[in-house]
Amino acid sequence: MIRSLQIIGVLILIVSLWLLTPGGGVPILAYHQVSSLPEIYSVDANEFDQQMQYLAEHGYTAISLGELFATKQGGGKLPSRPVVITFDDGYEDNYLTALPIMEKYGMKGTVFVIAGQVGQTEYMTWEQLKAMQQRGTEIGSHTYSHVALNEISPPEQLAELVRSKQVLETNLGQRVEFLAYPYGQYDSATIAAMQQAGYTGACTGRPGLGTTSGDVYQLNRVNIPRPKYGLGEFRLRLLRAQIYGKLASLW
Ligand SMILES: [Zn+2]
Repeated sequence: MIRSLQIIGVLILIVSLWLLTPGGGVPILAYHQVSSLPEIYSVDANEFDQQMQYLAEHGYTAISLGELFATKQGGGKLPSRPVVITFDDGYEDNYLTALPIMEKYGMKGTVFVIAGQVGQTEYMTWEQLKAMQQRGTEIGSHTYSHVALNEISPPEQLAELVRSKQVLETNLGQRVEFLAYPYGQYDSATIAAMQQAGYTGACTGRPGLGTTSGDVYQLNRVNIPRPKYGLGEFRLRLLRAQIYGKLASLW
């Protein structure tokens, strides 16, 4: 009896160690706003600061999606603990509040911009986006009008993807290779349109780790809403993604 309990204990230990060793993909964090607004997708500046500090102190290196995909084509090696820090929608606080905090800890991010909202109240201007870009931020598309892609026709989907890419590339002078689906919604026509529009990859709202070995247009992310339980919740979200990612790597 005691012997079988010991064997079970050892097995649990081995599985736990395996689940916690790196692998199975890269955490792609999904933020929206960094502000004190009492909204579910608005993380307070102090809490964002703690989260960035946690990543820095635990040996994480922020990389862009471009860098993640470059390793797929044999271009360089990933750091030992890579993380991608993404922001959806293109809110002005990403520039005013999140960027200086990320820089303080040597981190950088990726902003998915709603191309048709640039310069509107609460959203970044083209000048701010250019400044973000110059300071190491990767700019991606979040479509032109923030429509749920699976609720419009395939030609309309393609138009959203093409138009946002063109507008961003024209105004920012750099290639836009990645996109995040508004509301995390998409269908098979979206994937076909993504390919046709010439995107390299896309982020969903599905939980888990991002990996370039699967469908590049269906990258998982780690959603980071306003925490109810402080830094512990952030750590738990990272851990959960790690476990999902390891289990997903089995098949
Ligand atoms: Zn959005």
